[in-house]
Amino acid sequence: MPKIRLKEHNIIVKDLRQTSVLVGYCYPSTYRAGMTSLATHLFYEGLNRRVDTSCERYFRYDVPSPIRSLETSRPLKENHVVAFSLTWEEDVLNLLQMLDMDGIETLSENRGPESPIVLVGGPVVSANPEPYADFVDAFAIGEGDLVIHDIVDVVRDSPSRSDAIASMTEIPGVYVPSAGQSSVKRLIMDDLDDLFHPVAQIVPDVPDGTKLDPVFGKSLLVEVTRGCGYSCKFCMVGHICRPRRARSLDCLKEIVEQGLEKTPVRKVSMIGSSLGDLDGLESFASWIVSQNLQLSAPSLRADSITLELLESFVKGGQRTLTIAPEAGSERMRRAMGKGLDDEEIERAARLAKEAGYIALKLYFIIGLPEESEEDIIDISKMVKNLSDVSGLRITASINPFVPKAHTRWERQSQPGVEQLRERLRIVQNGLRDVPRVEVEGIDPRSARIQAALSVGDRSIGRVIHLAAQYGGLGGWRRAEKESGLRFLSLPSDTERHKAKLPWSFLVS
Ligand code: SF4
Repeated sequence: MPKIRLKEHNIIVKDLRQTSVLVGYCYPSTYRAGMTSLATHLFYEGLNRRVDTSCERYFRYDVPSPIRSLETSRPLKENHVVAFSLTWEEDVLNLLQMLDMDGIETLSENRGPESPIVLVGGPVVSANPEPYADFVDAFAIGEGDLVIHDIVDVVRDSPSRSDAIASMTEIPGVYVPSAGQSSVKRLIMDDLDDLFHPVAQIVPDVPDGTKLDPVFGKSLLVEVTRGCGYSCKFCMVGHICRPRRARSLDCLKEIVEQGLEKTPVRKVSMIGSSLGDLDGLESFASWIVSQNLQLSAPSLRADSITLELLESFVKGGQRTLTIAPEAGSERMRRAMGKGLDDEEIERAARLAKEAGYIALKLYFIIGLPEESEEDIIDISKMVKNLSDVSGLRITASINPFVPKAHTRWERQSQPGVEQLRERLRIVQNGLRDVPRVEVEGIDPRSARIQAALSVGDRSIGRVIHLAAQYGGLGGWRRAEKESGLRFLSLPSDTERHKAKLPWSFLVS
């Protein structure tokens, strides 16, 4: 672990004599992943703009200490609120380890009047907070930037920790597990133009491409859209972040102009789902490159791609186009509600070549409901065909289906680990001798854990608690055995399909 203090631009150190609320913003994973997340910049800058609040950051890995802030080495437990953003289910182990390492009780019922309030938000808990309920004092359900200031106001104005937590039950979009709320509304902002966007983003002073450099490089993250207007049956974003909302072109340009005045970078990274459907995306992209800025964009829907758009991205330095066919056959894509046809995907690959891209990244899911062996074979056929027609280097990312709460496939089963491995082998064998093609994806055992955490109820908190002590993939199996609870078998449990779902109290 590096012990040298990391140099960063735009960090904020407050005079604590002027502040009354201390917030520790925690990302329970690597520094790199946390700094690539817009939420880190959004909460950091948004909270520090308040005169009454000091917000400092904590990461689990690749920092001098996971329990001392990067800004002033403030111990985690000295904060009034420790606020975690949980993007991946398995990171809950890192979350518990961070609490434990600084002597903060991991079970909320054991925390005393001097303990920080443990607040958790992010997509994982906005879909199903129940597996984590034993560890958390309050959850932000939905878009956390809509409630964070109300939460801080309550902490500032309450005479005690327990009063603050009790008052949080009155805030729409906040779920306090100990209060037994019968229904919690998931908050969604209507108009993104009215929402604060960070413009003085933190940039690490590290060499490009090294392990502390953010995933998109040193760039200004610009949130273009939130949510998605499609509703693919497996996709959480398409179900809990509806409707798709977009910032206006004027607002986006203002964010870029202000952002580049305050953030020492020459690159813009667009953030959002199904960006290609945005009216004006082409003109926004060409405006960015006309300022001699670099540009990066996330995955685009194949049917929304135009040559002009891709040419702007290439001018902006992007070399790999990412699209997500999800399935190899049209039949399967129709069944999942994705609705792209083969021609549209092939056309996107040809346009990428014409625009000057050198590589394609393609995302696929295996183990889907209604999937046949033919559908799996079609994945390798499609990748081979796209390689032939485009001549581009291709990375095929093949990932197991994970049933997610609130989606139309929330009650579907995930195939067992061996079945998933077999399906993966079919794809790998089909692509073995195809030049310029690489296959990658997450381990089916990790996907199994993700699925169990996605569909579990409060009882599996005991398994999580033990797994955090043991660590690693094997730790989950050991925790399941020791707890005597069903965990890894949950995603294929057909009884679960008939029961009341643990997340049914969350409403949109
Ligand atoms: S998979 Fe993509 S297009 Fe489909 S709902 Fe999710 S974000 Fe939208």
